Amino acid sequence: MARTTLTVDLSAIAANWRALDALGPQTAATLKADAYGTGLGPVARTLAAAGARSFFVALAEEGAALRAILGPGPEIAVYSGHMAGDAPLLRDADLIAMLNAPEQVTRHLSQTPDLSFGVQLDTGMNRLGMEAADWARLAPTLLGRGPALVMSHLACADAPDHPMNAAQLAEFRRMTDGLGLRRSLSATGGILLGRDYHFDLTRPGIGLHGAAPFTAGRAALHLALPVIQTRPLAVGETVGYGNSWTAARPTRLATVSAGYADGIHRVLSNRIRLWHGDTPCPVVGRVSMDLITVDITDLPDTPATLDLLGPHQGVDDLAEAAGTIGYEMLTGLGARYARVHVGGA
Ligand SMILES: *Cc1c(COP(=O)(O)O)cnc(C)c1O
Repeated sequence: MARTTLTVDLSAIAANWRALDALGPQTAATLKADAYGTGLGPVARTLAAAGARSFFVALAEEGAALRAILGPGPEIAVYSGHMAGDAPLLRDADLIAMLNAPEQVTRHLSQTPDLSFGVQLDTGMNRLGMEAADWARLAPTLLGRGPALVMSHLACADAPDHPMNAAQLAEFRRMTDGLGLRRSLSATGGILLGRDYHFDLTRPGIGLHGAAPFTAGRAALHLALPVIQTRPLAVGETVGYGNSWTAARPTRLATVSAGYADGIHRVLSNRIRLWHGDTPCPVVGRVSMDLITVDITDLPDTPATLDLLGPHQGVDDLAEAAGTIGYEMLTGLGARYARVHVGGA
């Protein structure tokens, strides 16, 4: 087994989408960055089969790839809006550009005035979206052309008690109430804040993968790392770059195929465990580019693989140990892993 396999449970992703859909109004799916690294094609087809009719991506190129997968019909919207050079893609793939600045409005109306579009409003995050003053000035023109959707994005939705949530909600309402628009404010975190935040359409991404803040979701990933070699160590022998670990007991050591080039951050050295069934096996020594060393002394024999992601350890556990978030672990995982999808429709 030369190539490591990342197994994606599509039935878990479909179940997570349904669970989020049950909480609110129409539910889209955010599938940017190759569906957060889990595989755009299989995930998109699964969610379409589960009933999703609306999808979001970050870039027009991603939208074109998604249109080729889904065929005509489902709505595909692009968060980065209409960037220079996007016109042919937007047209050919029937994408909805979420216009986010006056320059994008100008570009859209001059290059693709016949294409449907959406508007992204800034309600305080100051990342993407039209400022209130620009919106006030451009709204008459834009409203006359009937935007398909108006949206904004919450900066602190993963912290339910943060006052920013209510402030952004109030600002979104102030900018859009009474205009008869189809509206979207919430990603995964906002869905969990409750009905006031749902409007007409929600746009979960991370929650589809059962990661925080949707901790009630089902984990969708299993990652088993092939064991390449094992060796016995005597007390006092050291392991890996920088001698960062020393055997305190007679130890059986396994070297597995994965490293920081696969998104297993070097900072996880000596901090996480791999699993064989229910038995934890500590990672010892430095994580290197392609290899991780593991103490398997407590196993009765040598397994073919050890689990990095599975029932005992999810992306959020790795993220916490690495001092980051599940989103970054997920999207950084294994460009060279074979993605195997199970449980699909
Ligand atoms: C990525 C993204 C989403 C999805 O967010 P999750 O937290 O993954 O659910 C929704 N809206 C915008 C604007 C995004 O950039």
